[in-house]
Amino acid sequence: MSSSAVAYAKKNHSRFLDELKALLRIPSISTLPENKDDCRHAAEVLVAELKRIGMENARLIETEGHPLVYADWLKAAGKPTALIYGHYDVQPTDPIEEWLSPPFEPTERDGNLYARGSADDKGQVWAQIKALESLMAANGALPLNVRVLLEGEEEVGGEGIASFVASKPPELKADFALVSDTELFAPGLPTLCVGLRGMIYTELEVRGAKTDLHSGMYGGAAPNPFVSLAQMIAKLKDENGHILIPGFYDDIIPPSSEELAAWESLPFDEEHYRKTEVGSRELVGEAGYSVMERTWARPSLDVHGIPGGFIGAGAKTVIPAKALAKISMRLVPGMTPAKAFALYKAYMEKVAPAGVDIDVRLIHAGDPCLIPVNNRFVQAATKALHEVWGKDTVFIRSGGSIPIVGDFDRHLGVPSVMMGFGLPDDNIHAPNEKFHLKNFELGIESIVRFLEESAN
Ligand SMILES: [Zn+2]
Repeated sequence: MSSSAVAYAKKNHSRFLDELKALLRIPSISTLPENKDDCRHAAEVLVAELKRIGMENARLIETEGHPLVYADWLKAAGKPTALIYGHYDVQPTDPIEEWLSPPFEPTERDGNLYARGSADDKGQVWAQIKALESLMAANGALPLNVRVLLEGEEEVGGEGIASFVASKPPELKADFALVSDTELFAPGLPTLCVGLRGMIYTELEVRGAKTDLHSGMYGGAAPNPFVSLAQMIAKLKDENGHILIPGFYDDIIPPSSEELAAWESLPFDEEHYRKTEVGSRELVGEAGYSVMERTWARPSLDVHGIPGGFIGAGAKTVIPAKALAKISMRLVPGMTPAKAFALYKAYMEKVAPAGVDIDVRLIHAGDPCLIPVNNRFVQAATKALHEVWGKDTVFIRSGGSIPIVGDFDRHLGVPSVMMGFGLPDDNIHAPNEKFHLKNFELGIESIVRFLEESAN
């Protein structure tokens, strides 16, 4: 199908790129107090641009931290409503000496645009806005209703947007969300992320004697919390990577055969992954599951640290009074943080060795999420991507989490289409961040076509 909005985007591409460069020159680093005004400036630039292209109600929404940007256009009676999300804040630039060109002076090299925030996420936000401009300019209207919500604290936890979304404001009523803050699985390969793992992050504290004791005088009679802790941790997983908490796997919704087949066809080299990404002698994990299944569709359990006791140089023969471990579990669709934590806590209480008291604490939790690939908006995205990239979409999941996607789902009942155009080697959060220029161009066209298809 020929789209006059795509034609408009092609014709105006060099202006779009110049405008993106101007946005990238604003050092909107959300974590640094000295860049507070820059964050607000970036937000104001976005509000002005949304107004200019014909969006309505464009404004800042104040939070405790950096403001949100909101705009809408709701004149497509009877059509669905899209909620478009991205973030305008960026990561700090250190180590600055490793940048080949200044982070806030966007520079084109080898078909890429180098600048902090180019891929994560200003380039993708600009692609969204330029898609809206193209649709509006070519047709005098949008094909469906659109709300835009951009945040300036994604890199620092996103508390402002989280509490705004949790308040279920009428401004966020929508049928689906477009989240553009992800990447393609490989260059030129249209990708939709349809699943995220959730997590529970816990502390396990073990207490023995009422005070630290001398191991010469009491060793053999007094309980040692570190030994008890090690025994308990050893009971969490067997040597085949299987988590031993009773009932832990009961509610898992396994990936569909369609998803599994798609993962099989992904360009993935396990040996390369082992060597260059993990760098260990062997990969571990549950037997019978591929690396993708193990990291995307199976829960995992990791120990992050065991603080306490004597850690100085030399020797000190102490039996510490207490020991602590920080332990987290990644959860997959079907599981809930509340149940996973309850099962884990009950199991730890059951296997705690004699002579110690334990305390199991939940530090934070997040829900897993899964967007069915037969969702009509995922299907619309697939069709649009095929047209623009000339290839079938690969459906992937992510082992990590994007909290806003869970928030949209849980508080608003809005499923997210995670359509992003970064690449695995874009150096986001690192020196020499880049955005592939072709992806900026095709990203705009993909969003144009996706919104057109979603209106049908
Ligand atoms: Zn991002």
